[in-house]
Amino acid sequence: MARRKKIYEGKAKTLYEGPEPGTIVQYFKDDATAFNAEKKDVIEGKGVLNNMLSEYFMLGLANVGVPTHFLKRLNMREQLVRSCEIIPLEVIVRNYAAGSMAKRMGIEEGTQLPRPIVEYSYKDDALGDPLVPEEYIAAFGWASQQDMDDILSIALRVNDFLSGVMYGVGIKLIDFKIEIGRVFEGDFQRLVVADEISPDSCRLWDIETGEKLDKDVFRRDLGSLTDAYTEVATRLGVMPKGQPPVSKPTLIN
Ligand code: C5P
Repeated sequence: MARRKKIYEGKAKTLYEGPEPGTIVQYFKDDATAFNAEKKDVIEGKGVLNNMLSEYFMLGLANVGVPTHFLKRLNMREQLVRSCEIIPLEVIVRNYAAGSMAKRMGIEEGTQLPRPIVEYSYKDDALGDPLVPEEYIAAFGWASQQDMDDILSIALRVNDFLSGVMYGVGIKLIDFKIEIGRVFEGDFQRLVVADEISPDSCRLWDIETGEKLDKDVFRRDLGSLTDAYTEVATRLGVMPKGQPPVSKPTLIN
């Protein structure tokens, strides 16, 4: 049996070399971390749920014309994605104040913002992913002005899509984070939505009750994270009702 080449191990995912050049296998782990990995746990089934949910969102985005790195889901824990150069920014879109913004601005969590606000953090764990102004992004050469125009447009399109999908199942999209990658095609480069879209990187509140159905359940010890993610997956029809997420690892390495 051949050992696969590990390219990168992150907090929630491991990346392996894909079967063809330009492809990567993205393996979703059950590990949950918060506060820059100060809080850690293993939540059985989380990787399966995030794999399925991320596939659902990425396919939906492709259907409305937003390019993503997603190629296909391989099994319960893995998906094949296009290899891309990740722009070192966390692109955050907020519809309602919550989390770090609520704290920074002294606004009560859940307050609707006058319009969606897009902000950027520099991806650097050692620095705690600091919020950066666009001036830094241009000056440090992380992305060009053209890239930033495209990133803003992608971020707002993702927001429209995700807000609508969530609203349809009685969930309010408070905020989310995406990462953007560059894919090179000959002389051209294209920006695509990369990484994952899952309740790990979104804030999702039930419209009726305000119940949190995202990683804040783990961050703030509000109950079972698997139950919250399963609720999202069930409402979206991603996971059949009553079926527990398969938790056995499917990876052999
Ligand atoms: O913590 P903060 O309020 O800045 O987070 C905004 C949104 O970005 C939340 O949905 C959070 O889950 C997501 N986020 C993330 N990864 C980070 C920081 C924030 O997915 N490193």
